[in-house]
Amino acid sequence: MIDITMIKFAVLADCFHCPVKGEFAFNIDWLLLIDHQGDIAATYQPQHPEYADLLATFKRNDSLQVIPKGEYLLPGLVDLHCHAPQWPQAGKGLDLPLYDWLQNYTFPLENRYSDNDFAANVYQDVTKTLLANGTTSAVYFASIHRQSTELLAQTCLNVGQRAFVGKVNMDNSDQCPAYYCEPSVTQAIDDTELFVNNVFELAGNQSRLVHPVITPRFVPSCTSELLQQLGGLVQRYDLHMQTHCSESDWARDYSIQHYGVSDVTIYADMGLLNNKSILAHSIFLNQADIEKINQFKAGIGHCPLSNMYFANAAMPTRELLDHGVQIGLGSDIAGAPSPSIFRASFDAVSHSRVREEGVDIYLPASKRGTANARISFVEAFWMATVGGGQVLDAKVGLFEQGYHFDAIVIKANSAIGNLRIWPEFDSAKDILEKIITLAQPENVAKVWVQGNAVI
Ligand SMILES: [Zn+2]
Repeated sequence: MIDITMIKFAVLADCFHCPVKGEFAFNIDWLLLIDHQGDIAATYQPQHPEYADLLATFKRNDSLQVIPKGEYLLPGLVDLHCHAPQWPQAGKGLDLPLYDWLQNYTFPLENRYSDNDFAANVYQDVTKTLLANGTTSAVYFASIHRQSTELLAQTCLNVGQRAFVGKVNMDNSDQCPAYYCEPSVTQAIDDTELFVNNVFELAGNQSRLVHPVITPRFVPSCTSELLQQLGGLVQRYDLHMQTHCSESDWARDYSIQHYGVSDVTIYADMGLLNNKSILAHSIFLNQADIEKINQFKAGIGHCPLSNMYFANAAMPTRELLDHGVQIGLGSDIAGAPSPSIFRASFDAVSHSRVREEGVDIYLPASKRGTANARISFVEAFWMATVGGGQVLDAKVGLFEQGYHFDAIVIKANSAIGNLRIWPEFDSAKDILEKIITLAQPENVAKVWVQGNAVI
């Protein structure tokens, strides 16, 4: 029998999660025990011999949270790629290609974050919005400004979101506007190292709910000296690293022209890759890139909606999953407008289906698309939860002993909202598919991060 004094509370719920890639489990009346650290201590099915006694004990102690029927417990969602300072730009400005979009819209906005008051306002809003959409773990690019990036890290702690926050590094004066460019490699590195230590030492961050992330924006915006020294920080502190990888024709070609090799090789050579590296997009990968990503146990943040606007091509998600590449999903605010990882899951499926069917009506159906390119809704949900956790090397995305209790409750059939479940017609698989495709913030009834109720 489990030691009850170790348990902070128990949850009784109908639960979905994906212990196996491509499959889901639906556990009715599951009992999850959460310890005082906010981790899952144990799970019990109703047929377990100790189930009834445990249930009675937690009811008696008033430490049982019962999730009503018609509501479902899911692992919290993981957003592997979100530009927090671009939140005011979400939903507009998608009319330009990547280079022009950065220069005309994004860099002027990001430069506003030298103003801490402006930053505080936006960062409070974006972190709360992501939580309201069910995102319990978020990986944020901030801006080049150390102080307001620390403010973002502090805001994540305050709202109770698990977060991976990076001060952006960009020092290539050929590519960055003069007003938004690090003055020197030395200053960029000193600032970044100070940022890393300050995040570790934030009041309330003893359990490392918020992690600093080394964040070279991408190859074109950084000099090779800066990339190299950032790689040194990754190695010295064993840190997470996030960047953009082979996102578009232009970005891919820039690396080939300037380094003669692909982004993945550049990042590996600079010491930037490890088992906690998040390579956003990663559209134009060759076989050697894929093998190198697997060799380092690095991972990809797939941002399907953003890819439609900026990537010039579609990610071969099916093939990457089949190659065992660690892959999760990203919103890519504001390269795409939606802060929802349910939406990213839906888009990942649609993206793969368009790729499978093809688009050119002048080709015969047999030659139009790429056979067997589709992914399933369950695979998309796996990426949104388990896959994201794997990329981060974090114990999130599953309801298993030892995992952090990061969870959301989805309420169907609420007065306002699109998610309708018809018990007579909907199987468990149908319900999960409907949640992925139709759930909105109004359906996210409760959110826990590390065992703390934050919504
Ligand atoms: Zn991005």
